[in-house]
Amino acid sequence: DMVAVRRALLSVSDKTGIVEFAQALSQHGVELVSTGGTAKALRDAGLAVMDVSELTGFPEMMDGRVKTLHPKVHGGLLAVRDDAGHAASMQDHGIGAIDLVVVNLYPFEATVLRGAERDEVIENIDIGGPAMVRSAAKNHGYVAMVTDPADYPVVIAEIAAGGTTHATRKRLAARAFAATAAYDAAIAQWFAFADQGEHFPQTLPMAYTRHADELRYGENPHQSAALYMPRGPHGRGIAQAEQLQGKALSYNNLNDADAALELVSEFRDGPPTVVIVKHANPCGVATADTLLDAYKAAFACDTVSAFGGIIACNRPLDEATAEAISGIFTEVVVAPDASDAAKAVFARKKNLRLLLSGELPDPERPGLALKSIAGGLLLQSRDGGRLTDDMLKVVTKRAPTPQELADCRFAWTVAKHVKSNAIVYAKDNATAGIGAGQMNRLESARIAAWKAKDAADKAGWAEPRTIGSAVASDAFFPFADGLLAAVEAGATAVIQPGGSIRDEEVIAAADEAGLAMVFTGMRHFRH
Ligand code: 5GP
Repeated sequence: DMVAVRRALLSVSDKTGIVEFAQALSQHGVELVSTGGTAKALRDAGLAVMDVSELTGFPEMMDGRVKTLHPKVHGGLLAVRDDAGHAASMQDHGIGAIDLVVVNLYPFEATVLRGAERDEVIENIDIGGPAMVRSAAKNHGYVAMVTDPADYPVVIAEIAAGGTTHATRKRLAARAFAATAAYDAAIAQWFAFADQGEHFPQTLPMAYTRHADELRYGENPHQSAALYMPRGPHGRGIAQAEQLQGKALSYNNLNDADAALELVSEFRDGPPTVVIVKHANPCGVATADTLLDAYKAAFACDTVSAFGGIIACNRPLDEATAEAISGIFTEVVVAPDASDAAKAVFARKKNLRLLLSGELPDPERPGLALKSIAGGLLLQSRDGGRLTDDMLKVVTKRAPTPQELADCRFAWTVAKHVKSNAIVYAKDNATAGIGAGQMNRLESARIAAWKAKDAADKAGWAEPRTIGSAVASDAFFPFADGLLAAVEAGATAVIQPGGSIRDEEVIAAADEAGLAMVFTGMRHFRH
């Protein structure tokens, strides 16, 4: 099943390495056939080339839309060599076999990425190229289809040894179909999302490419995992962050760093803010005059959980903050940037992964969130919902003080990023206690208060920071009990969506305790 290569068809947009490759083919006696631009490049290098128009007897036409779409090309690619009927057709119609094809496609994605006009984008949809790739790859029993310059050396080595092997042709075919599939997905993605502005197209085009190597493992060591990045136009997020140092990122690192970066991005226009995340939930968040103070306040919320945490900042890291972070074991730090002095501090912590995100993503940007369920995928628009003044409705007799209102807003923003059921106590622009992921709201309220009490005990404070705090609930209180737990913890203000059939009961309980409560009318479930 070794195939001697007598004739090769070369048609490439990206001409990197093509001359050297063609020279090597020529040295092994391979006849070269090529399309306009590629033929010119080879001729300029002194190689003998047959124009594809000579092969087909038709000129390349319609601005290159029709070059290789011809039976003399596709017959030569698709013919089953040892099929008598196919051989007769070749004979009857003067079709010569093509044993090797080298194609890379019009740069559709690059054209989109540089913001070209619609007409130019459309013109960069390659038609003849993918047709050849698919013909040759289908017929890999006889034809070698090269789509990646990285495969040039292997192919030359095999030709030098007598011909292409079946194993290589099969591997090349797999790459070829992956290339055309991704190419068409990128086109479909552009049509659906960029051109039509659809959110949920009938068929989901997915043009993603694996980023570097596979990850060490998945959520657990017996699972495997990899990161994929969108090929076409995309925004910035944790996947695009640059890793400056530290061990390779794991699946959990990326998942946690994503949670941290998304939360800190809510504060991108605010004062210095630090988020500490564990297991995709924040365990401390604070805003202060300096990044260092913000870190200290975030850390103080839960010094136990912060161990091995993922930290995100909304400012470039400075030396003092880097020193403080280095004081305990930290898995990942992500920030828009870092000063040279801060980088030098982290350089002493070889294992710490330092990620620079560049400008923080817009928390309100549109986008899709995807979740796999057994046998399918769930897609929804990302939760870009944010609190605005006009959403707030005071429902209690007492209105919140300005400080209470500020704490309410802060707690609410954090609660949006806590797994449901989420209860967040905040005071003076720092979280005081966070209750995450419980199956009922009352327990989240109790856990958050208990954690605040534990933090106070450990730090030797006179009282937990829930005293005089504001409390946020990611969804309405279905009963008064959750609110009463917050009263017991010392909260004086509440922010929640409202909308329960028992709102009146909950409001009455708040009034009775002298609480100020605001409704937002927006829920932030997060699972
Ligand atoms: P060249 O620079 O050699 O003139 O053109 C090479 C490019 O043309 C390759 O990217 C190849 O995929 C593409 N191509 C080859 N045949 C056809 C065709 O018949 N129609 C279109 N639209 N593109 C083709």
